[in-house]
Amino acid sequence: MDRIICLGIESTADNLGVGVAASDGTILANVVRVHVPDTGGIHPREAAQHHAAEVGNALSEALKASGIKSEDIDVIAFSQGPGLGPCLRTGATSARALSAYLNVPLVGVNHCVAHIEIGRLLTGAEDPLTLYVSGGNTLVSGYEAGRYRVFGETLDIAVGNCLDTFAREAKLPYPGGPAVEKHASMGERLIQLPYTVKGMDLSFSGLMTATIGELKSGRWSLEDLCFSLQETAYAMLGEVTERALAHTRKGELLLTGGVAANKRLRSVIQNIAEEHGAVPSFVPISCATDNGAMIAWTGILAYNNGIRTPIEESFIDSRWRIDEVEVPWRA
Ligand code: AMP
Ligand code: MG
Repeated sequence: MDRIICLGIESTADNLGVGVAASDGTILANVVRVHVPDTGGIHPREAAQHHAAEVGNALSEALKASGIKSEDIDVIAFSQGPGLGPCLRTGATSARALSAYLNVPLVGVNHCVAHIEIGRLLTGAEDPLTLYVSGGNTLVSGYEAGRYRVFGETLDIAVGNCLDTFAREAKLPYPGGPAVEKHASMGERLIQLPYTVKGMDLSFSGLMTATIGELKSGRWSLEDLCFSLQETAYAMLGEVTERALAHTRKGELLLTGGVAANKRLRSVIQNIAEEHGAVPSFVPISCATDNGAMIAWTGILAYNNGIRTPIEESFIDSRWRIDEVEVPWRA
């Protein structure tokens, strides 16, 4: 088969990504532009404006870095969901325009599927159970009978959102995860906080509210609060991941998403994998957080399996679930 080149656009939240991938598995470019809000958390419309303003530059930079010309592009892929509507629409509009201008097919990619596919490509894991933890998603998923099935997920906010919101209340820098990790490494007292696992699902909003309440009480050091928040959240994630691993008996355990940068969570995942004789793997951080390379690579997998998204069917779906997507390349 000829070598196919795909340009992928990622714009589900605060990152705008433009990546270029080839069908032999090489990532030719991976340009990411992050929107940092002046105040508060992500403002969807401001993030979308940022993406619209940056996409032209990001495209030129990605083409330059990849050493290809626009005529070399065989497919345009974009993140079709899940994510924030205004942000998704900006990426989709750019992708549609490029597809029409270059006269090449368009492929809509599920963002969560892309996180798993780039993980498989870069770590060599073949059929992993995946814990995907980020600012917007918390998902335990594995392939079974044509789709990535959901074994556990958050019922409310994502774990990264929980860390970020607490950090903001504690006046720590944005995004909160790295700052919470730094303070946690100096904490030692485990404060009792809500630990909410319901069946195979998780809830982080009560944990977030309670930790903010303890912060405002002034009773504890910031170090102990960060330590306790991390220990509680990661134990919850570990419990659900371990049960899914025991149930599915997968031989590999993959950790991905922005929160995968966390050393404590990595050690939790490493221990669980070892307990169950599974091989742990960690996606390199440049491709674990939201990026265009993962969209480009998944676009190639889909394209090579006959998947096309005609422009008139290319509406974004901000709630597109991973288990609604057929993944014929895994069959
Ligand atoms: P993403 O949504 O994949 O772009 O990742 C962003 C999320 O990852 C934010 O919620 C960050 O706070 C979180 N994050 C980044 N680094 C760390 C870290 N070292 N520990 C915990 N969370 C982190
Ligand atoms: Mg992000």
